[in-house]
Amino acid sequence: MIPIIKPWLGEQEAEAARDAILSGWVAQGPRVGQFERAVCDRVGATEGLAVSSCTTGLHLALIGAEVGPGDDVVVPSLSFIATANSVSYCGANSVFADVCPVTQNVTAQTVSDAITPKTKAVLLVHQVGMPADIDAIRAVCDAAGAVLIEDAACAIGSTYKGAEIGGHSPFVVYSFHPRKVITTGEGGMVMVQDKAIADRLRILRQHAMSISDVARHSSEEFVFESYPELGYNYRMTDIQAAIGMVQLGKLSAVVSRRRQLAQNYHRALEHYEILQLPVDPSYGTTNYQSYCIKLRDGGRKLRDRILQGFKDRQIGGKRGIMAAHLEGAFSTHRQAGRGSLPESERWTDESFVLPMYHHMTQSEQAQVVEELRVLL
Ligand SMILES: *Cc1c(COP(=O)(O)O)cnc(C)c1O
Repeated sequence: MIPIIKPWLGEQEAEAARDAILSGWVAQGPRVGQFERAVCDRVGATEGLAVSSCTTGLHLALIGAEVGPGDDVVVPSLSFIATANSVSYCGANSVFADVCPVTQNVTAQTVSDAITPKTKAVLLVHQVGMPADIDAIRAVCDAAGAVLIEDAACAIGSTYKGAEIGGHSPFVVYSFHPRKVITTGEGGMVMVQDKAIADRLRILRQHAMSISDVARHSSEEFVFESYPELGYNYRMTDIQAAIGMVQLGKLSAVVSRRRQLAQNYHRALEHYEILQLPVDPSYGTTNYQSYCIKLRDGGRKLRDRILQGFKDRQIGGKRGIMAAHLEGAFSTHRQAGRGSLPESERWTDESFVLPMYHHMTQSEQAQVVEELRVLL
């Protein structure tokens, strides 16, 4: 059995979790603060808010961008459904932008086509770690008066114009789900450039409580808290943050290993005209959170045959990225159903993901390649 991904977790993470548990502080506490500072230092962001998931982080980022009922938010349909769901949580409306046939990301052109007079924010996605062209999309946002938010769920460790993704936009949100490159079990982080906005979101993260647990515990006097607005419980635990510190220390090694494995796949498959293989765009580098291949021919029929073939041979292939406008959850959306987003539909129908994990062996990779060759 060759799985699609295996998180690289071991004794160091177990030890870190153990220390957190034995410290007596298991909810959000000092280790969360330490983890936030460490991620900020790494990616060059001003502030970081550790949260329970990327999904809750996206919700906070949209609130930070003052997105509310009646607003439009430009977002790719071709993404994990959480991206569009987060817009719905605010009572706002997703306007789906189509994607580039090469990068599977939204572009300045597709974003521009989706801008309306009610557009309050643009939520771009660095799909499967492949960087989108942030500067080009920011120019469209600036012209439209929209706030740029990056869904970087898969993109920690990817780079844009020489710097790691995380400090380029007012809000950048990571996921630490086990399917991503580093993990805290569940978890995420919102990178924020404006300190006042970060302070407000920190309060909303814990029920909009006027004073944090840490501040209350360390005060000499008895403190009564208050709740001036609607808040949420979107906190990360100190146990997760302790694991996150260890994982962050492995990030560079994880990314360089994934890039090496991607190069192996590339060399073995580049002669197949039928396969469109993933490559770095001119302006950045991907962390290859997923090695996602699109078929140039054969359509959905061949793609599904490959997935079934992998399943029969116990190889963990996976479909490419879903498209929210084709799902029941968005069936009443005005772009629902086929036809409105041709490139997104091609990607979701005709792409698939190969297994890739840190300790993948040469013979496991060769086996995947061999099975794929047979199925083509
Ligand atoms: C995984 C993923 C999410 C959701 O992340 P969670 O941490 O599981 O909430 C959101 N957006 C994209 C693009 C993702 O890949």
